[in-house]
Amino acid sequence: MSSENASHKEGISILGSTGSIGLSTLDVIRVNADKYKVIALTAHTQVDRLFAQCVEFKPHFAVLVDEGAATMLKAKIKDSSLDITVLSGDESLNRVASLEGIKYVMAAIVGAAGLQSSIAAARSGKHILLANKESLVMSGELFMDEVKQHSAVLLPIDSEHNAIFQCLPENFSNGLHKNGVNKIYLTGSGGPFRNTALAELENITPDQACAHPNWDMGRKISVDSATMMNKGLEIIEAKWLFQASSEQIEVIVHPQSVIHSMVQYKDGSVLAQLGHPDMRTPIANALAWPQRIDSGVADLDIISLARLDFEAPDEQRFPCLRLARQAMEIGGTACTVLNAANEIAVSEFLNFNIRFIDIPRIVEQVLDTTQFQAAKSLELIVECDLTARKKAQEIINQGMQKAG
Ligand code: NAD
Ligand code: MG
Repeated sequence: MSSENASHKEGISILGSTGSIGLSTLDVIRVNADKYKVIALTAHTQVDRLFAQCVEFKPHFAVLVDEGAATMLKAKIKDSSLDITVLSGDESLNRVASLEGIKYVMAAIVGAAGLQSSIAAARSGKHILLANKESLVMSGELFMDEVKQHSAVLLPIDSEHNAIFQCLPENFSNGLHKNGVNKIYLTGSGGPFRNTALAELENITPDQACAHPNWDMGRKISVDSATMMNKGLEIIEAKWLFQASSEQIEVIVHPQSVIHSMVQYKDGSVLAQLGHPDMRTPIANALAWPQRIDSGVADLDIISLARLDFEAPDEQRFPCLRLARQAMEIGGTACTVLNAANEIAVSEFLNFNIRFIDIPRIVEQVLDTTQFQAAKSLELIVECDLTARKKAQEIINQGMQKAG
């Protein structure tokens, strides 16, 4: 570390720094270089991008989970005479999520791969900037217990949850009713296929599914947005973050993605958070909370918005919404299973092995054929995740054999 005034800067580990959220986080840090010091950066396999980030941000640690990729990064770091420790393997993620000198962990790995490190951040009492919603979906109760037990601070990065967080009273706790809230409204754009003829959904390609009208995101969450499973996962995320019941969480389709979500109070007031669809805003909000910092996002020109539209979601078009709500209402490991089956189905869709419309079918089949349990321990959750993945894969393989 250089000696330049690093002492008054808060340390941050960015898990998933080469992804869409990771890049936006580094953008916000670039604007606020006097306040934050990047201590660790992590990625899966992307050597060149992580190396470029190392050159710019000079972290103490760089993790590439893939061992071969880490070896390549090590060589590059050595050649450039940077003083950075390069690590590999999943365990290293937990290590940099719980380093003593850091206050913040940006949890921006995609999917279940982010579970253990998000929990590690909770167990070491960090400010967890949670983008990795899948970890909370998989392990909700356990995750929230760890946060509480270790006095960690959980700050939502998902734009909807960050919006709700901003619209709730600052000292919010003990559930919505105790705070005078009747309901929360999660808004969602409806994705690229909101108006596509149902018959055409059969032939959707991965690139079409990833072309989101308003947000530029990683491929997995882009597909989730197109099926609206993303909103389904977000219902579950909201349940845990805000201690909300199923009836208290309503989804509203809002194609412009300007209102990021709303809170309905019992006196008739509805508070909303508005902004450009740009993740730098929630990232800056969570990083600086309870203060405010520049995010690099331009002011919203309200007059140029002209209009905001709203509609009820179409559950026939988006069966994933129903499946996610069902899993949430069942509780226990049902959400772990939902998430695992969805991850496999999305990945196989992105690999051209199944059709877009098969995603909810596979998730439903896996849910229908699984016995759920109380989500008592992390070991049990990890086991359920693996079993559900296997089952989803078998269903897909059988389907491919029949088709082939
Ligand atoms: P992305 O695919 O762009 O990036 C994922 C990051 O995770 C990369 O740095 C990648 O190297 C790393 N990664 C992938 N697999 C890994 C593994 N097995 N082990 C370790 N690291 C691994 O994804 P993203 O769009 O940035 O999304 C990240 C998370 O944030 C997801 O949980 C997503 O739901 C959530 N999120 C994203 C957005 C968005 O605008 N992109 C908005 C809200 C929430
Ligand atoms: Mg979201």
